[in-house]
Amino acid sequence: MEGQTGGALSVGVPRETAPGERRVALIPDTVKKLTSSGVQVKVERGAGEASGHADEAYQAAGATIVPDAQQAFDAAVVIKVQKPDASELALLPRGSTLIALLQPMTNLDLVQQLADKNITAFSMDAIPRTTRAQSMDVLSSQATVAGYKAVLMAADTLPKFFPMLTTAAGSITPAKVLVVGAGVAGLQAIATARRLGAVVEAYDTRPVVKEQVESLGAKFVDIPVDTSDTQTAGGYAKEVSAETLRKQQEVLADHAAKSDVVITTAAVPGRAAPRLISKETVERMRPGSVIVDLAAETGGNVEVTRAGETVLHDGVAVMGQLNLPSTMPVHASQMYAKNIQNLLALLIKDGAFAPDYEDEIVKGTVITRGGEVVHEMTKQRLAEAGGKAGASNGGTSSASAGTTPQSTAAPAPRG
Ligand code: NAD
Repeated sequence: MEGQTGGALSVGVPRETAPGERRVALIPDTVKKLTSSGVQVKVERGAGEASGHADEAYQAAGATIVPDAQQAFDAAVVIKVQKPDASELALLPRGSTLIALLQPMTNLDLVQQLADKNITAFSMDAIPRTTRAQSMDVLSSQATVAGYKAVLMAADTLPKFFPMLTTAAGSITPAKVLVVGAGVAGLQAIATARRLGAVVEAYDTRPVVKEQVESLGAKFVDIPVDTSDTQTAGGYAKEVSAETLRKQQEVLADHAAKSDVVITTAAVPGRAAPRLISKETVERMRPGSVIVDLAAETGGNVEVTRAGETVLHDGVAVMGQLNLPSTMPVHASQMYAKNIQNLLALLIKDGAFAPDYEDEIVKGTVITRGGEVVHEMTKQRLAEAGGKAGASNGGTSSASAGTTPQSTAAPAPRG
């Protein structure tokens, strides 16, 4: 294999080049684990700078610092956060392995190019979301960051306190926060808003979430809809019917109108985000209120959201920032690197890259191999799109990924 010299497996960590991306794929701690098992790690100069990791720390962990991207890409296994852009793709050695957030279902051109270059590509956002794979689940780790940060952004923008205060200057009533979508990001948002002292309500289409919401000290918003078919066997939300959606919008409108902050995180894997908060609902909210729409990248849960921007609509700040994990690069990188380390433990045996392609985690995560697209759902999407080019959205990847300074979570090719 190219990039593999003297028998030692070589791993390259290039500096991320997507605008605003501050995370790094491996931190010195994870590098140390690799080098101590005989793997040769090359890190591009400055790769860890934006997440607080100096070149010297990587050197102390046994890595070699290389001066440019070309040398970092010249490895048997290249590990990144973001998907490669055209110039990075050109630097990937034919026949090498790439591990990154590829969002293959919406980057079909890239997937085809990786297959054409005979790259074995693993997409971190495709890790099956099973109990066994939990320690490698970047969608969860990065959504945790996004949910937390969304609340801090809202608190910073809200012209009010979050907690209740009793002071000599009078009493302050606590802020009211509504969280829509109580998956990983939503639950973290609830916990964070509660820690800041807000009164929190939350809603999710999956009724099993009610108990988790209540255990965090929030009130579950009950919406009288048929919930018998809102969840897949794997525990994920299904798209709801038009009638259910209408009812959800109607009830949520009343709750949103009484809230100071609305954090929306509702997503259905592989689909556009459900539109839960209408323009009219935003107009019913008090001026100065804040909405943070974590579903901005996949179309938004809020009608007036603009991806990557904050818009002021009728006095309400609607924040559609993308890639929130990148705004907390220290812990986001630490968690991402740990997820990668756990995946590598499955792929590297006795210092050699030797994945078991029949393993369900490996199988679910490999997108291209042996010159072909092997990931079932991506293959299907390619077939629907009519084969090769022109199928990609060419836009941001996300989730946890995101190419812009901001993105958070987008539908992943689970399965
Ligand atoms: P996600 O980002 O795909 O969706 C966020 C939330 O939006 C989900 O809770 C979903 O139910 C909700 N939603 C969808 N449509 C909605 C609607 N119309 N109205 C209101 N809410 C709506 O999900 P996620 O946070 O990545 O994961 C969801 C769940 O999957 C987790 O809470 C967990 O139970 C499970 N999970 C399991 C594992 C594992 O076992 N390894 C890993 C990750 C997640």
